[in-house]
Amino acid sequence: MALANENYLKTPEIYCFDEVEKRVNAYKVLHPTAKIIRLGVGDVTRPLTNEVVQAMHLAINEMSHVDTFRGYSPPQGYDFLIEKILKEYRSNSVSLTKESIFISEGAKSDIGNLGHVLGRDNIIAIAEPVYPVYENATIMSGRAGFLNDDQKWSNVVYLRCSRETGFKPELPEEKVDIIYLCNPNNPTGTTLTKADLKKWVDYAIEHESIIIYDGAYNAYITEEDVPKSIYEIKGAKKVAVEIRSYSKTAGFTGLRCGYTIIPPELMVYTKMGEMAALNKLWNRRKANYTNGVSYVVQRGAEAIYSRKGKAEVQDLVNYYLTNASIIRKELLNCGLEVYGGKSSPYVWFRTPKDTPSWKFFHQLLYEFQLVGTPGVVFGQLGEGFMRFTGFSSREGTQIAMERIKNKI
Ligand code: PLP
Repeated sequence: MALANENYLKTPEIYCFDEVEKRVNAYKVLHPTAKIIRLGVGDVTRPLTNEVVQAMHLAINEMSHVDTFRGYSPPQGYDFLIEKILKEYRSNSVSLTKESIFISEGAKSDIGNLGHVLGRDNIIAIAEPVYPVYENATIMSGRAGFLNDDQKWSNVVYLRCSRETGFKPELPEEKVDIIYLCNPNNPTGTTLTKADLKKWVDYAIEHESIIIYDGAYNAYITEEDVPKSIYEIKGAKKVAVEIRSYSKTAGFTGLRCGYTIIPPELMVYTKMGEMAALNKLWNRRKANYTNGVSYVVQRGAEAIYSRKGKAEVQDLVNYYLTNASIIRKELLNCGLEVYGGKSSPYVWFRTPKDTPSWKFFHQLLYEFQLVGTPGVVFGQLGEGFMRFTGFSSREGTQIAMERIKNKI
C-alpha cells in the first residue's frame, strides 16, 4: 500500500488565487457579456522586450546546428548569465563569488525546495499578511505542527505586519530559525528600509537563524533608503539567502527564470552542532534534482543586462508602476487608507466601512465588474483589506478607476 505524504493534505485543496478564479467564473456564467477588468492577479500582461526576443531567436538558431547545439545546462546555470548577475551586484557595491549564484526556473520553486536542505525541526517565522507560498511550503514539508483554533500553525511564528506596524513585520520575541522576508512585500506593497533590514540581519546573526529574502519585486524599488539587495547590509552574507526572479522584472512569468544566492559563508548546523555550508547542500540538491534551465531562456535572461535590454526592462517596470500610481491616487481620492504602489506593483487598501474582504470582493465584482484579491487570502491579518495590482493594461487600469470614482 503506497502511503501519501499527509502533510500535503493539510494545505487547502484549492490554491488561494484559484478560489478567486472560481468565483469570477461563477459570475461570468450569470453575466456572460460583462466586461470584467482584472486588478487581482500578480501576473504580468506586457509582452517580452525586443532584446530578450532577439537573443532567444539567436539561441534557438544555435540549437539547430550541430556545432552550436547545447544539451543539459550546467546545474548552477551558464557562466554567461552568472557573470552578468555578478556584475550587476558589483555595480551596486555588493561583491559575490560565482559559486554563490544558482540559476533557477523562477522564485516559487526555490522557495519551496529550500525546505529540502533545511532540518525538519526548524522554527519558521512568516510575516502576516504575506505571499502564501511560504506558509504552504512549511506545512507541506511537515514543519508547521498542528492547526490551532485560531487557524495558526503551532510551530510557525507569525510576524505581525499590520497597519499598527506600518505593514512591516515585527521582530519575533522568541528565537526562530528560519525567517521569510519579502521586500517589497507582496501583498502590501510596503518596503523595509536599510535600517529595518539591519535589525533583521542583526537578529539572525545573534540567534544563528537564516533569512530567506524574497526579492521578486526588487526591480520596482524607487525609494532611496530601500536596499536592492539584503547583502547591502553588513553581515548578511552569513545569514541570508536571496531569491530573485525575472518574472516581474522582465515578463518571464511564462518563460521561467530567476536565481538564488547562497553565499558560501552561510552556515547551518547538524544536531551535533557541526557546521555545514548551505551552499554545498544546495549544490547537491541542484545536481541531483534538476537539469537546469534551458539554454534559450538563459540567453533571453542575459539580454536583460545589455544597455538596450536594461532600458527596455526599465520601461516595462515603469509601465506597471505608473498603473499602480494611478490606482493609488484614485483610491486616495475615494478617501481610503492606502499602502504600497510606490516601490511595488501592488496597492493595498482598507475596505470601506471595514467590509470583510470577500464581501468587498463580491461588491467590486458585481457592482463594478472589477476583480481584486481579498486581503484575507494572505493571512488573517489581511482581513478588511484588498489588493489591486498594476499589472493590468493602462487602458484597463484607467477604466477601472473611472468605474469606482466617487462610488466606493
Ligand atoms: N515571490 C513572490 C513574493 C511573488 O509574489 C511571486 C509571484 O507572484 C513569486 C515569488 C514567484 O515568482 P516566480 O514567477 O519567479 O516563480
